[in-house]
Amino acid sequence: MDPTSIHPEPSPTSAAFASRARALMETMPYLRSLRGAIVVIKYGGAVMGDDDLADWWANDIALLESLRLKPVIVHGGGNALTAMMKKLGITSEFVDGHRVTTPEAARVAEMVLSGSINKEVVSRLQRAGVRAIGLSGSDGGLLTVRPHRPQGRDIGCVGLVETVDREPLDMLLDKAYVPVLSSTAADRLGQPMNINADVVAGAVAAALHAHRLVYLSDTAGLIVGDKLLPLLGVSQARALLADETATGGMRPKLESAIHAIEAGVPSVHLIDGRVRHALLMELLSEQGGGTRLVSDEHAPTRLATDVDTAQAANATTKAPAVAWAGTLSARGAKVIMPTYGRYAIEVAAGEGARVRGADGRSYLDFAAGVAVNALGYAHPAVVAAIRAGSTGVVHASNLYWTEPMVRLAERLTAMSGMDMAFFCNSGTEAIETALKVARKARPGRARTIVFERSFHGRTLGALSATMQPAYQAPFAPLLEGFHAIPFGDFDAAEAAIASDVAAVLVEPIQGEGGLRPVPAGFLSHLRKLCDRSGSLLLVDEVQTGIGRTGKLFACEHDDVRPDAIATAKALAGGLPMGALLTRGDCALALGPGEHGCTFGGGPLIANVAHAVLDIIANAEFLATVRARGERLGAGLGKLHAAHPTLVTEARGRGLMWGLALSAPRASELVARLHELGLLTVPAGKDVLRLVPPLIVTESDIDAAIATLGTALSGLAVA
Ligand code: PLP
Repeated sequence: MDPTSIHPEPSPTSAAFASRARALMETMPYLRSLRGAIVVIKYGGAVMGDDDLADWWANDIALLESLRLKPVIVHGGGNALTAMMKKLGITSEFVDGHRVTTPEAARVAEMVLSGSINKEVVSRLQRAGVRAIGLSGSDGGLLTVRPHRPQGRDIGCVGLVETVDREPLDMLLDKAYVPVLSSTAADRLGQPMNINADVVAGAVAAALHAHRLVYLSDTAGLIVGDKLLPLLGVSQARALLADETATGGMRPKLESAIHAIEAGVPSVHLIDGRVRHALLMELLSEQGGGTRLVSDEHAPTRLATDVDTAQAANATTKAPAVAWAGTLSARGAKVIMPTYGRYAIEVAAGEGARVRGADGRSYLDFAAGVAVNALGYAHPAVVAAIRAGSTGVVHASNLYWTEPMVRLAERLTAMSGMDMAFFCNSGTEAIETALKVARKARPGRARTIVFERSFHGRTLGALSATMQPAYQAPFAPLLEGFHAIPFGDFDAAEAAIASDVAAVLVEPIQGEGGLRPVPAGFLSHLRKLCDRSGSLLLVDEVQTGIGRTGKLFACEHDDVRPDAIATAKALAGGLPMGALLTRGDCALALGPGEHGCTFGGGPLIANVAHAVLDIIANAEFLATVRARGERLGAGLGKLHAAHPTLVTEARGRGLMWGLALSAPRASELVARLHELGLLTVPAGKDVLRLVPPLIVTESDIDAAIATLGTALSGLAVA
């Protein structure tokens, strides 16, 4: 080797270093995404009685804290409490995992749990460098409790958590303290109540909308028969409680885990506290073993055991990685033109509103292929239409008539109040068609009115109508005659739309331009002005069309009938199809040979579009889209209220929403959400766009809002 070289030959050590460094680098975005995430940890069982294990655990908490996670500890004290009771001659009896407690025993429990044990845990954490602060449920009015009466049985001074006041916890977390809670609180008369620590942990996680709730126990996880269950959903957990499969101390754990999940905690983990670093592995890599409880949508359809992991893997976030996982960006960079800033996600599979990465991670998809996958992934109707089409004529060309295309045109024109359709492959082609129609239908008129921050596509005609300097500037000279006015400005429209205007081109909700809906009445104002000047009203429904806003076309909200509607994205269930729907003189403006599209309206794709319309063009389906949209909007409104400095507005309609940020941090937020398992798209630099599949469920929406909340909290502290 040339000793003067600044690039020494690679050695085995450098290769090993490179691979380790790569592994570290790969975890970085994930770790970054966890910043600010609240993790409630129930600490108890054998780990508490073993000095060595307890020190390892305290070091794990110190590491989590240094990664800027926010641990909240709830500790038990089981064995020490039993020993103390015994010493004092008080016998311990358990009902449903709860200790029967006399008033005297409750005072002992308070003394032991909130006295010596709490101090011990705090001081162990402090020795590990953690800024721990001890609290009982009575401190700061943190917990209010009521007596627990399982099946009507009086078990004495045992409390159930009625409310959790998160304020004292938030104050400590804001100042980077780690709260350490004991599980006692006083009732309204000041009588100390003993509360099962698992129940306290569940209630605290629910109140804090924690990112994770972790129970450290003395078992490998939830064992049924002699098998460990790696993953289960809420209904499955309920069934295990109902048929008494879950017994003893597992019952309050499962009950409070269910409560936490239902309050929006994305997953609850039961891990083996006797295993060193199980906590770290579970939180930082999700590989700590044990059992994970999730909402039903994320659970396998039947209970999976550890010998049944293949089934669990297919149905969950822990699907096995495929052979090419992690290689596509390097391979793609060599052979795919670099026209997109792609994320480091390699999409391998999808079902419903979820996609799976090649690395086995699952994502809730609120991007839907940029508002294309209206029926989500692998929708049976779309799959069936594709299968049926593939046995027949996929493509026939526009030299001949094909029945699916003619029937599709009949359907779309009837639904939209238009007369005729032209089929193409994309949104930009539909816009090109509209621009050519305007030239032919209004010859001699020099101007087309468009709007600031519009987006109509990438081909040169559509780009000329796209009033965003960053998109246009490199490609000058563009077509002339496009005149931009402020979006939603009634007076500017009044002044601009005159007899030299061939057409007005408008999006009912600007998508790329920042997810901005037109003000109410603006489209009908444009309609009136166009009627006055004889100009055409062209509505770009490439993104808003086919049910996205809760009507088949968004212009229906304003009860406006345009001269032409361009649509595409959702039309053929993910297959490339665009259409321009026209009426009046626009319908006959282009004659034979004046326009065309080789693939436009082929039989396979038209049949898939029929399958899509069979579902979406239905009053009940569209009403559900509107209702889901309201839920999404309300959730986003709450996030706006909770993060007023970060979020300036939540705006949208149907299932097309934007969260406007006070700073150009949309890409950062999208990346953070990826790490938390939620796909979204930026709409400009400072708006996050949420366009889930129209089949999204209420719980998907709630889960997305909870994830967004976590991400925004992370953004706030970053
Ligand atoms: N018009 C609007 C409103 C769009 O949102 C888009 C794409 O995002 C287009 C036109 C261009 O569509 P395509 O990418 O299919 O050409």
